[in-house]
Amino acid sequence: MENLQRLFENNKRFVEEITASDPDFFRRRAEKQEPHFLFIGCADSRVPIEMLTGVAPGEMFVHRNIANQAMPADLNLLSVLQYAVDVLDVKHVIVCGHLGCGGVKAAMSDASFGLVDHWLAGVRELVRRHKDELDALPDDDARANRLTELNVLRQVHQLSRTPIVQGAWKRGRRPLLHGRARGDPDEKEGPGRG
Ligand code: ZN
Repeated sequence: MENLQRLFENNKRFVEEITASDPDFFRRRAEKQEPHFLFIGCADSRVPIEMLTGVAPGEMFVHRNIANQAMPADLNLLSVLQYAVDVLDVKHVIVCGHLGCGGVKAAMSDASFGLVDHWLAGVRELVRRHKDELDALPDDDARANRLTELNVLRQVHQLSRTPIVQGAWKRGRRPLLHGRARGDPDEKEGPGRG
């Protein structure tokens, strides 16, 4: 209970601080959101993306799940993507992996973790597909880091093949797609690419 109370107190302080420096902030935000970014990241509690990037409320549309998956049959992901691209007209869609991702490590493991095994089937498939490259790396940390990169690349590719992104690019519209893992950029942008 004590920890839960801390959340309410932090929120009260947050509102007071913002209002003190910008009395109209919350009224403007209540009217509409105009984010330039859709961020697709991991649900890991250590990667709170708004805090890490310093964006204010209203600046970033966010979708998070275990191991930052962008599966083409995930209705949740597709709904977020469609709204962000077609309605909010975001300029950038960013898939972001992170060091020490438990989802990526679980996919490398032979152990069973329950329902999440199904969720991570695509990452396990990457392990199989890139077995030779991963096996050649010196240790599990290096393998996990490389798999994190491969996973991000895979998700960016899958996003680029969705009818939502393809349709936007055919209409000559954004978004630019970005993949980030360990700070190494890989980008796709449309129209005409992907
Ligand atoms: Zn993670």
